[in-house]
Amino acid sequence: MTPVFGSATLLEKLQSKEPLLWLNPVLGSMLPKDAPTPDQIEQAETRLARCDALIRALFPGDVVGPIESELMPAAELQQALTQPDTQQGAWFLKRDDTLPVAGSVKARGGFHEVLTIAESIAIEQGLLATGGDLRMLASARARELFTRYTVAVGSTGNLGLSIGVMAAALGFDVVVHMSSDAKQWKKDRLRRRGVRVVEHEGSYAQAVEAGREEALMKPRSYFVDDERSLMLFLGYAAAARPLARQLEKAGRVVDARHPLIVYLPCGVGGAPGGITYGLKAIFGPHVHCFFAEPVASPCMLVQLAAGNSEQVSVYDIGLDNQTDADGLAVGQASPLVSPLMAAQLSGVFTVSDAQLYRQMLRVKQSLGIDLEPSAAAAVGGPLWLNDSPEGREYAYAHHLDLAEATHIIWATGGSLVPPEEHRRFQEHANALEARR
Ligand SMILES: *Cc1c(COP(=O)(O)O)cnc(C)c1O
Repeated sequence: MTPVFGSATLLEKLQSKEPLLWLNPVLGSMLPKDAPTPDQIEQAETRLARCDALIRALFPGDVVGPIESELMPAAELQQALTQPDTQQGAWFLKRDDTLPVAGSVKARGGFHEVLTIAESIAIEQGLLATGGDLRMLASARARELFTRYTVAVGSTGNLGLSIGVMAAALGFDVVVHMSSDAKQWKKDRLRRRGVRVVEHEGSYAQAVEAGREEALMKPRSYFVDDERSLMLFLGYAAAARPLARQLEKAGRVVDARHPLIVYLPCGVGGAPGGITYGLKAIFGPHVHCFFAEPVASPCMLVQLAAGNSEQVSVYDIGLDNQTDADGLAVGQASPLVSPLMAAQLSGVFTVSDAQLYRQMLRVKQSLGIDLEPSAAAAVGGPLWLNDSPEGREYAYAHHLDLAEATHIIWATGGSLVPPEEHRRFQEHANALEARR
């Protein structure tokens, strides 16, 4: 059954895979009653802060600082992509591609969930007092305990890397269920750390389902559920407070006259949704969040446009969910996140694979940074806002002075990608460029 959208043209445009900006008509509506509380976000922030020393103990030499990334001015990228006479505020790149140990945004949610599991087991088994020093979790006694527990996750790659590396470092038995098309180097990296990688024919959703079923049948087994996990979501939401401090340090005011506009690549929705949720808790109506999704996999757009009464997938409107954007090839949005985003998300823009590669190349040329293609999905966001009729409609309706705006493009992954992979990405991007 084809879901019913507000407009037939939207459906046609989505089906033709024409890149578009969709504005959320119910932005500002009420959050569901069971929505996470500001207290829960704060607890996640505190837990991650308490884990700094533990993470350093688990990865000696690897980790120089906390699980945090730079907010980098991106004037060169802005100049490369915009006309000199356009007034559109200041661009920044949020460098989650450099997050320690996991090399992607998944460090935030993934580490938070694994550390929550480890802490709760240690408390339950009498090894740790509530609020105790978490470095204890890196001790031989804790390790011995954790070997008796299994942590399982289904992933297209980066979530598996994040959960797998952290859980294995703590001593857990770890199983990562991956779709067979997941990148070889990601599987190799996990196996080197003692993680069991199970490959599944078929889609990411099937890999997740298989992992969930297996974990349910085993005692002392935890399944990290990318589609429904609150602990993942809160780990992402905890990104907001440090970002607010970075903005303050950079002298970027956020208020009614100085909007903050954030562009985030979206897969199942947990990472961009959690970050949006955390930012909304701090900045309210002064922050405007847009998701970027591949033209073949706009699962959050489709879900929100159809309304939230039932789950809708990109397959339901005849799309094939085929894209080179690892981690963004998701057919169905998280049922935990989509009701929250109905109230908070400003809109979604879609990107073709050719655009992904072009944007990745522009980031490389202007800033010298190697992103993975999916991590460059959000780069075109400020252009959508400034140059499209829909973007101008949004700016007008919300009284945004774009000249005073701070635009943050969330770069979500890339630093762990092997150099030869990056070279292949660049070659492909250059070949596409030459063909234009
Ligand atoms: C996972 C991922 C995303 C999106 O996160 P979701 O929680 O799946 O929406 C974006 N970029 C990269 C590089 C990712 O690995």
